[in-house]
Amino acid sequence: MAKNILCIEDNPDNMLLVKRVLTARGYCLLEAKNGAEGLTVAGSQSVDLVLLDINLPDLDGYEVARRLRSYAGKPELAYVPIIAITANALKGDAEKALEAGCDVYMSKPINIRELWARVEGFLPSPANQ
Ligand code: MN
Repeated sequence: MAKNILCIEDNPDNMLLVKRVLTARGYCLLEAKNGAEGLTVAGSQSVDLVLLDINLPDLDGYEVARRLRSYAGKPELAYVPIIAITANALKGDAEKALEAGCDVYMSKPINIRELWARVEGFLPSPANQ
């Protein structure tokens, strides 16, 4: 069965990197380039994990996480793993991400091995099954 990862990220280079890394491991990637689009995709498609950029052009990632956690009509989004990706390595940002409902956070620039490890920790790779 396909494992769908929703990546909410406005930077095309980061999106492409994530897509290459994760599709090579057998995951399906759903792409959203801002918070509103991410919420729409989350509400309309099956999502097994969310990669969430904190710095987005419309809603910030904290707000997106809060809305995912209390999504009307889709209670399973309260439990979907959310990995926050923050450009700011400031300690307060990580704490804010966790308070907003994210499970873990990673800092940019995205490290490919860390991304694999984080994703696999929640969602075993289809390529290994
Ligand atoms: Mn961004």
